[in-house]
Amino acid sequence: MAELRSHRESTSFFEGAPSLPEVAVDPVKTVNSAATAPSPSQSMSKPHRCSFADLQTIASQIAKGSHGGDKHVADSFVYAFDIDGVLVRGGKPIPEAIEAMRVLDGDNEYNIVVPHIFLTNGGGKTEEERCRDLSRQLGREIKTGQFICGHTPMREMAERYKTVLVVGGEGEKCRHVAEGYGFKDVVTPGDIIKHNEAVAPFRKLTAEEYANSRRRSFSRDVIDAIFVFADSRDWASDIQIMVDLAMSQGGRIGTLSTTFDEGPPIYFSHNDVVWSAAHEQVRLGMGALRRMFEVIFSDLTGGKGKARIHAFGKPQVSTFEFASRLMSDWRTTEHGLVGSLKTVYFVGDTPESDIRGTNAVNEASDDDWYSILVKTGVYQEGNTPTYEPRVTVDTVLDAVKHGIKREMERNESGGRRKALGLSGPSLEDSSAIDS
Ligand SMILES: [Mg+2]
Repeated sequence: MAELRSHRESTSFFEGAPSLPEVAVDPVKTVNSAATAPSPSQSMSKPHRCSFADLQTIASQIAKGSHGGDKHVADSFVYAFDIDGVLVRGGKPIPEAIEAMRVLDGDNEYNIVVPHIFLTNGGGKTEEERCRDLSRQLGREIKTGQFICGHTPMREMAERYKTVLVVGGEGEKCRHVAEGYGFKDVVTPGDIIKHNEAVAPFRKLTAEEYANSRRRSFSRDVIDAIFVFADSRDWASDIQIMVDLAMSQGGRIGTLSTTFDEGPPIYFSHNDVVWSAAHEQVRLGMGALRRMFEVIFSDLTGGKGKARIHAFGKPQVSTFEFASRLMSDWRTTEHGLVGSLKTVYFVGDTPESDIRGTNAVNEASDDDWYSILVKTGVYQEGNTPTYEPRVTVDTVLDAVKHGIKREMERNESGGRRKALGLSGPSLEDSSAIDS
């Protein structure tokens, strides 16, 4: 059966079951508090052997949810969700998402709670504000400890660069996000336009934008890096300023390089060309802005320019690894779990980022990263996904039910085989449940 631990107690529901060995702590995957926090299993008495009949009884109890209504936490698998097109569309919850969250919280036939996190390429607000939005949309509390947005990994670069240009988002929000990450000197396109409105001939700052933009001379300033935190609200002026800097002498505003290879590095928080919004057709995203920048920069420099461009977000493996560290912390702080996972179910709607990234990290990881594609967002029924998921389902609710059922069937099979003294892969492990 599944390796489960009581949600609020330190005793294991499976105490005594021989199919549930203590889980070794993986020092690579367990960080900070996880490395020192006592495992719920450490206070358990030594397991004793039980019979196959005992296991069947336990399985029956779980199936019926007949163990007094207590919730138990699955410690061998977790879920990670993309948001737009999976849980939310156009600012409104996808109806099945509400039910899916209930199932994860233990409202299921097995009475188990499934730890889960959220990993979106979206951004433009602080993680706290995004979590408040998502909590309101899903009707339940979402905490920052279980949430990563496109620019979250950028906080790890705050010490590397002194003066940075932050692009995208509404008003001053992304400047505040960057400052909250610890960036010391944050410039916005508004600051540059306020300094010299000829930079963007067709862009007129509103009275509010003018008041919020900071006056500075720029005569001695060097822009050390450009961070595109969120979708641009004015592509023409933002691209103009990014191209100016990419063609500048070492990031000095108003200068022009002769080699076009000394501009500051540019970091995009993700690469998605399109995303699923309220409109019935997908909408242009940050990846489209990047493509436009690249084409214009190439044209203006006769193909000789060199821009140093990087991207965070899905499908970058580093973003999934960042998510893995957050997941480890979340399992410990929220659920008291320590130890390695077996399976991470990732649910997304975009083959090029969600599925591609999940499949890639699966290749690089000891854990089984299991990609699930839903049909409520970018991917639509009838198309052939450019990156093949392990399974395709209609909605996020189907995705949640699929993984839980798969885990329970796999672990039931494993427990039965172990009780019978068998080893090696079981037939169920290679069953045709997956596409
Ligand atoms: Mg999406």
